[in-house]
Amino acid sequence: MIANLLWFRTDLRLLDHQPLTAACRQGSPLIPLYCLDPRQWGQTAFGFPKTGPFRSRFLLESLADLRQALQKQGSDLVIRWGYPEEVIPILAKQWQVKAVYAHEEVGTEEETVTQALKQALQPLGLPLYTDWGHTLYHPEDLLFPLSRLPEVFTQFRKQVEESNTPVRDPLPMPERIPPLPQGLDPGPLPTLRELGLSLPPQDARARFVYVGGSTAAHARIRSYFWEQDRLRVYKETRNGMLDANDASRLSPWLALGCISARTVYAEVKRYEAERVRNESTYWLVFELLWRDYFRWILAKHGRKLFRASGLQGIRIPWQQDWPRFQTWCRGETGYPLVDANMRELAATGFMSNRGRQNVASFLTKNLGIDWRMGAEWFESLLIDYDVASNYGNWNYSAGVGNDARGFRYFNIPKQSRDYDPKGEYLRHWLPELAGIPGDKIHEPYRLTTAEQKQFGVQLGLTYPRPVVDLEKSLQANRRAYEAALARRQPRRG
Ligand SMILES: Cc1cc2nc3c(=O)[nH]c(=O)nc-3n(C[C@H](O)[C@H](O)[C@H](O)COP(=O)(O)OP(=O)(O)OC[C@H]3O[C@@H](n4cnc5c(N)ncnc54)[C@H](O)[C@@H]3O)c2cc1C
Repeated sequence: MIANLLWFRTDLRLLDHQPLTAACRQGSPLIPLYCLDPRQWGQTAFGFPKTGPFRSRFLLESLADLRQALQKQGSDLVIRWGYPEEVIPILAKQWQVKAVYAHEEVGTEEETVTQALKQALQPLGLPLYTDWGHTLYHPEDLLFPLSRLPEVFTQFRKQVEESNTPVRDPLPMPERIPPLPQGLDPGPLPTLRELGLSLPPQDARARFVYVGGSTAAHARIRSYFWEQDRLRVYKETRNGMLDANDASRLSPWLALGCISARTVYAEVKRYEAERVRNESTYWLVFELLWRDYFRWILAKHGRKLFRASGLQGIRIPWQQDWPRFQTWCRGETGYPLVDANMRELAATGFMSNRGRQNVASFLTKNLGIDWRMGAEWFESLLIDYDVASNYGNWNYSAGVGNDARGFRYFNIPKQSRDYDPKGEYLRHWLPELAGIPGDKIHEPYRLTTAEQKQFGVQLGLTYPRPVVDLEKSLQANRRAYEAALARRQPRRG
């Protein structure tokens, strides 16, 4: 009996899945496969667990949900622990597979695996059919080839918007998903413990509990768009850090492909037709364009994105100062906005966009620490980790990305006052500062000894003193940045 194999990667869904649709059309038994690649549970270059417990849990939940969805269709999800380039040829030989179907990936590690698989399939005479399915736009619909992708986001957005490039309609789920070949054991889904990981107990302070899988992704759209009607105010609320509905919170499901960007777009269009079309509905699509842009940038530039000197090749003398880096990871820098966000990340595996921009700016522009250490810390922890969005945004924050606007940084106390005016977010994640009233919470290092006593804070004891002086550290890092820029320019000309 001949079979086909569908290799799931970051596309853990049945809806809007072109390779699945193509494989199902063949009619023969289908092997839907997910490989838990041991390399993903190794360590990052700086020694962090590559896929930490929060990310792993979200992935396992997503796989369980996908398995259930396939079972409902009379199929199953085959799960194997191993390198795809080894597992797939073994299954192919055993079950007389005639073709492998998958989505394209753009990460350099992911691309290495794809190439290794292609090589392993060659002697078997097996084709690997791939399609592009992660972004809003399909490459065939863009009016420029990848080599001519605009380097700056605004240019990219304008070109896409002005050309009226269509977003393809999401594909329906295939009418029939062929069964597994008879006798094929789908294999168990490992537990976190079997992956060598354990989670801290659920932190009751998390305002939103994420559950992996397509079912939860669609439930979130239902709730955020339709039941709570929050899409209509998205633009005004999206910079909030505390409330569950400040922003869409769709990123973890988009990152693992539990829902496609095109499906989210189709829901936005439906919302515009049935409820309201306004700046907020536009803005959600605008943010999805950022996501597209970073993916295309990674596809275009590959390895450059991961180098310390980034897309622009600016050789800043980054520090790898571990004691200071650890104050950042633990949320003990003495700057409440940074600390609250870093503690939220450590406790939940999530942080808002506003938070990410501030902590990344602080790490690179105040501490002068190698941005790749921050990016890897995020990679280990973030449940929405996406190679292109993470490394692309870090390039931006570190000043080595494509926004050639010089030494840009976030003024941490000002950001704190602007985006958390009452200090509610800070009090939520930094209980030791909860006694500080009003505006003073944004800068506890300015409290007098008498005020410290009055508010129940002891700097250096109950809450850290600032790890660096904000102004002086900015000046030093600006000098280093400008010197690096000057060194680079002659080489360019
Ligand atoms: C240093 C840094 C690292 C980041 N790492 C990641 C990452 O690994 N994975 C990830 O998905 N996002 C990353 N982001 C982007 C952004 O912070 C998250 O996408 C956003 O906070 C997710 O929350 P949300 O779904 O509520 O976003 P919303 O505001 O509701 O936005 C809707 C969707 O648009 C996309 N989006 C929004 N902003 C961006 C952006 N700046 N870049 C790319 N896509 C965006 C996301 O898919 C998001 O789900 C990073 C940002 C920074 C500054």
